[in-house]
Amino acid sequence: MAARVPFIAGNWKMNPTSVEEAISLAKAIADGKGSSKAQVAICTPHPFLAACKPHLDKGGIDLGAQACYFEQKGAYTGATSTSMIRSVGAKHVIVGHSERRTVFHQTDEMVNQIIHKVLADNMLPILCVGETKEEYESGLNTQICAIQLAKGLKGVSKEDAKKVTIAYEPVWAIGTGLVCDASVAQDVHKFIRGWLANMYDQETADTIRIQYGGSVTPDSVDELMSKPDIDGCLVGGASLDPAKFTRIMNFK
Ligand code: PGA
Repeated sequence: MAARVPFIAGNWKMNPTSVEEAISLAKAIADGKGSSKAQVAICTPHPFLAACKPHLDKGGIDLGAQACYFEQKGAYTGATSTSMIRSVGAKHVIVGHSERRTVFHQTDEMVNQIIHKVLADNMLPILCVGETKEEYESGLNTQICAIQLAKGLKGVSKEDAKKVTIAYEPVWAIGTGLVCDASVAQDVHKFIRGWLANMYDQETADTIRIQYGGSVTPDSVDELMSKPDIDGCLVGGASLDPAKFTRIMNFK
């Protein structure tokens, strides 16, 4: 089995507040990549994609978007298509982030339509799954991931599945400072890999990268990344701080 290349992605969410700030953040992050052994992507808000691209390129960092719609073009006010984001140099798209699911009412069916569209347009989706606090406390974390994976990946071929990154993001850990215990996260990642092996085959499951997301910081990254089924991190808050994100990209 070929080793999976670690994949660290920053999700700036609705930050920063101007293109000038976005450029200076992109420059600082690009400067910090150093000799990181990971593939790194930064997912900026749509208006900053094109402006950040050349600066991230200099550091060998990929550009990603945080969301897109599943239609190609037309009367969908406020929506952004895969071809639009691809045309400004984005390679990755986060799909089904819990904030899209809850704040913007994105359903599993929409998530699935978007996954198909992203893959059809030769971009690389990061599919987010994860349970709420109540579900976690009821011991439902793996069942919820299984349901979201089944619905999100419905109809996705084995070859296309290999292009998907799964991000396990327990909702209760996002933006709360409550990072999931690394061994608990490892158990869920192992479950997800087993689910993928069952759905596709072992080779496919061994190819797909599974990121952990939820309050990742310089203090938690090394232990998380030491786990065999944790192949990377999806980083929100700490990706807005170049010093913190630099340390995360250069995990030990
Ligand atoms: P956080 O966000 O690192 O701020 O918890 C992670 C995410 O939502 O992707």
